[in-house]
Amino acid sequence: EIKSINKNYFGSYSSFGIHREMISDKVRTDSYKQAILENPSLLRNAIVMDVGCGTGILSLFAAQAGASRVVAVEASEKMAAVATQIAKDNSLLRNGISHEGSKQIGVIEVVQGMVEELDNADHAQPHSVDVLLSEWMGYCLLYESMLISVLYARDKWLKPGGAILPDTATMFVAGFGRGATSIPFWENVYGFNMSCIGQEVVGDAARFPIIDVIDSCNIVTTSKVLQAFDLVTMQPKQMDFTSEVVLEPKLVASLNNPIGSEQEITWCYGVVLWFETGFTERFCHEKPVVLSTSPYDPRTHWSQTILTFREPIAMASTGGGGEKLAPVGTNDCPAARIQSRISIVRASQHRSIDISLELIGI
Ligand code: SAH
Repeated sequence: EIKSINKNYFGSYSSFGIHREMISDKVRTDSYKQAILENPSLLRNAIVMDVGCGTGILSLFAAQAGASRVVAVEASEKMAAVATQIAKDNSLLRNGISHEGSKQIGVIEVVQGMVEELDNADHAQPHSVDVLLSEWMGYCLLYESMLISVLYARDKWLKPGGAILPDTATMFVAGFGRGATSIPFWENVYGFNMSCIGQEVVGDAARFPIIDVIDSCNIVTTSKVLQAFDLVTMQPKQMDFTSEVVLEPKLVASLNNPIGSEQEITWCYGVVLWFETGFTERFCHEKPVVLSTSPYDPRTHWSQTILTFREPIAMASTGGGGEKLAPVGTNDCPAARIQSRISIVRASQHRSIDISLELIGI
């Protein structure tokens, strides 16, 4: 069964559309390009391994940055063949023979297969790699679970003290308001009220996470770190976790509502998750880089992950206290905070993940 899941998974990377989408995501590709090209003391003369090279774009950057050798590993047969051709066409293939028949002096070698199955002596010695490079992030960071392959490669191929790019990954959470749901759209359709559809859509959304872009103006709470990973030390079992977060209403000063005056009520409809990966100064001395998929930053192909509550919760920074004449979180008794427990676990034998969101207090 695992074999067939992998077959589908790597098959999905055999179509060029997905590679075009990733390469066209400028936030993503420019972050990697910057981290690789603007940290010459890290890349120059380095032995690099690119886990899941796809078209080979990161390996090409590494070769450009002066790496002495780049082992580009790709499980998809189609993409490994394409990456080989591309390295050759750009005169960067190691031991490649050019169209004119002359031997090329490039540094990239493409190896087809899963990185877990890469055998020892052929391509590099265990613990000989200076820089381990990979773009492994999925929706909600962990969807696809490719990180586990990167950790495997780290333990087998990376030199003690070697660099891993990116070297940190952090997940964030914040509450969102009505404007981020489909309710406003269906309330006025060419002047007609279709709000019954909006209600139904929001009800369905409470059962499944949605991947979509949220505008930062619809974030109604503070943002909190949900989980932080250090890729140098983390173990695969840390990919499954449960965290508790407390979200407070975001204070927005306006002319009608200066901070400190009586607060307006904001309704929180659910929470949004996103992530950042860091190419930190630990390895990137010259130019540390952060790749962010936050709603406060330019959008990426990862969008954000939206988890909708069954019922919205009313919030106000002055709320929650006093005599509880009404249930907390309603109009008459807004909550001062939302306490929730979020857990993410890999679905057994799948590349998908199970996300659960539990309200534990308001
Ligand atoms: N590095 C490329 C592609 C990233 S997509 C870029 O930045 O554009 C991830 C790629 O990793 C896919 O092509 C997928 O087939 C490959 N991949 C995923 N898991 C792998 C594994 N365990 N071994 C080898 N390749 C893998």
